[in-house]
Amino acid sequence: MRSYKTTMVDPVRLLPREDRDAALADAGYNVFNLDSADVFVDLLTDSGTGTMSNDQWAAMMQGDEAYAGGDSFADLEAAVSDVMGFENVVPAHQGRGAENVLYGALVSEGDTILNNAHFDTTRAHVVANGGDAVDCPVEAATDMDSDDPFKGDFSLDRARAVVDDVGAENVPVVVLTITNNSMAGQPVSVDNTRAVAEFADDIDATFVVDACRFAENAHFVQQREPEFADDSVAAIAREQLSYADACVMSGKKDGLVNIGGFVGIREGRDELHEQCRQRGILYEGFSTYGGMSGRDIAAFAVGLREAVDPPYVAERVEQVQRLCEALADRGVPVYQPAGGHAVYIDANRALDHIPRDQYPGQAFVCELYREGGVRGVELGRFAFPDTDRRDLVRLAVPRRMYGPDHVEHVADTAEAVCERADEISGLEIVEEPEMEELRHFSAELRPVE
Ligand SMILES: *Cc1c(COP(=O)(O)O)cnc(C)c1O
Repeated sequence: MRSYKTTMVDPVRLLPREDRDAALADAGYNVFNLDSADVFVDLLTDSGTGTMSNDQWAAMMQGDEAYAGGDSFADLEAAVSDVMGFENVVPAHQGRGAENVLYGALVSEGDTILNNAHFDTTRAHVVANGGDAVDCPVEAATDMDSDDPFKGDFSLDRARAVVDDVGAENVPVVVLTITNNSMAGQPVSVDNTRAVAEFADDIDATFVVDACRFAENAHFVQQREPEFADDSVAAIAREQLSYADACVMSGKKDGLVNIGGFVGIREGRDELHEQCRQRGILYEGFSTYGGMSGRDIAAFAVGLREAVDPPYVAERVEQVQRLCEALADRGVPVYQPAGGHAVYIDANRALDHIPRDQYPGQAFVCELYREGGVRGVELGRFAFPDTDRRDLVRLAVPRRMYGPDHVEHVADTAEAVCERADEISGLEIVEEPEMEELRHFSAELRPVE
């Protein structure tokens, strides 16, 4: 049961079926082109889409808009120190701004950067700085049915093989992404975190944690790693982050705000802190606002504390698990177990008659909208051309927004799509932007005749 009540209402409506069909055709069969007013349940992303608390709104009223030395920034520094244990904070407008600040300071031409799996913007920043981004997921990560509790872990075997190949001197940074967004939002154990920290230390690399979903990860650790069964989410989060030299944070995830981010830097890493500070001033804004308004910063400081304050994160992750179970109960093929922020449907199984070059994932996304006004996103061969990854459809759940009736509606909608799979045809691209990597945001498609 939710531990909060609703005191502000944001109406949504389910358009009539013909209007949904027309809206989808107008959008070129790409749900990024839909108006949000035409969407009934919006599971496009959990990034910056959540609901703020009354305490966050109250804090916004006291946002300090001073260019330098604002009170709100001092509140954010205190929250980062208390909740995440980093003494130095370089603010940025969102996660990728923080990535630009940090990876620009750490990565040079010819370097190899290791990560359990690079999130798209992380990979882009490594590559933009001349680096090679290598993923080191564990075997179980790509097994849709394995019930391994920590499918997000970093594979030290793979990492060692890469280091043997390129030489330790060419690996200046090791990154651990918690939860592992590119691997279905799967968690990383504290035990694995310790081992990765030791490995980074052995090769003299800086150990960075991409902490975007640190609170969700801490919840999984509490539930699944026996050593931590009796510890609070707040204590686990601090423990897990204590091994990192630096972190990257997007406030749009476990900061519980609509915009914001920062780089957190361990005490004693003065040179890295100074480099980041200077890059922050150049790209984001002065070191006490970094692209955020004082109001944004004030809400962020409160949101970070709420993220580890029970029972918020348990309810959030359990809602995602309930959606996953509701889908599985109805025979919809899903990635198991559920991740912290999203459920992934396997369109290659659901629409197994559609050839892979006709984008079965995108076809499923379109049908979810036509069937029930539900917006998800394709993360298969439409979004990632030239890969052999499965055609997954992600349903990401915004924080503190939807209720159990929405969960039921989404599951019923996906079931109805699966039941009439035979009638569903594939899609072909009619127009796409120059940069293939960005095509899923704006390309237009049409059903194959
Ligand atoms: C969202 C995200 C980012 C980038 O953050 P933005 O706020 O979207 O720029 C980086 N890493 C991970 C793991 C993310 O989920």
